[in-house]
Amino acid sequence: MSSRLQALHSEILVCTKCELYKGRTNAVPGEGPDNARIMFVGEGPGQNEDEQGIPFVGAAGKFLTELIESIGLKRSDVFITNIVKCRPPNNRAPRKPEVEACNPYLQSQIGLIKPRIICPLGTPAIATLMGDEHSAGKSHGKPTTRGEYTILPMYHPAAALYDASLKETIFRDFQILKQLLAKEAIASVKRSDPIEPNGEKQTLEKWA
Ligand code: URA
Ligand code: SF4
Repeated sequence: MSSRLQALHSEILVCTKCELYKGRTNAVPGEGPDNARIMFVGEGPGQNEDEQGIPFVGAAGKFLTELIESIGLKRSDVFITNIVKCRPPNNRAPRKPEVEACNPYLQSQIGLIKPRIICPLGTPAIATLMGDEHSAGKSHGKPTTRGEYTILPMYHPAAALYDASLKETIFRDFQILKQLLAKEAIASVKRSDPIEPNGEKQTLEKWA
């Protein structure tokens, strides 16, 4: 992990900027490579995450890992975090002042990791990253480009886990993520085209 990301995570571990620090066992900054192309953003740590200091390690996490593997990736390929880094009491939804106090950490993570695609999971994460007019029901599966990255909102895996039709929907939305990644890979080959040695160009065009 880069030293700047490491420093940020150390700061999160001792943060007292909102009330949620009082009930935590461990803050959960997030995990994954600091050059990940994909970032998943959940709602907040639950009991297992609070105990272990790692995001998405309970039942929802197991399902998220399955979803990631369904498109040929490994969990260790992606960065996983939450809109609040400390567990809300009794797993209640995080409150606005808590989300606002914690959001600079999420924004710094985005700035340092520079993911190509960000997937907010569930309405609280979707509204935080896209605005309050967005929700999982309205916006899931629809990618929007925001400057340097694309946002692809999805249902929360905990909501989809026990609901057959939502489960189908989230698997389909992961296929959209797979297509976006393929497009992204082609785009980055094209971007590097002019600086490739002359002989390489034709081969690259064949792939694009
Ligand atoms: N649900 C979340 O939103 N985040 C976690 O880290 C675990 C479960
Ligand atoms: Fe700090 Fe975020 Fe934890 Fe609140 S939830 S104490 S802002 S790290």
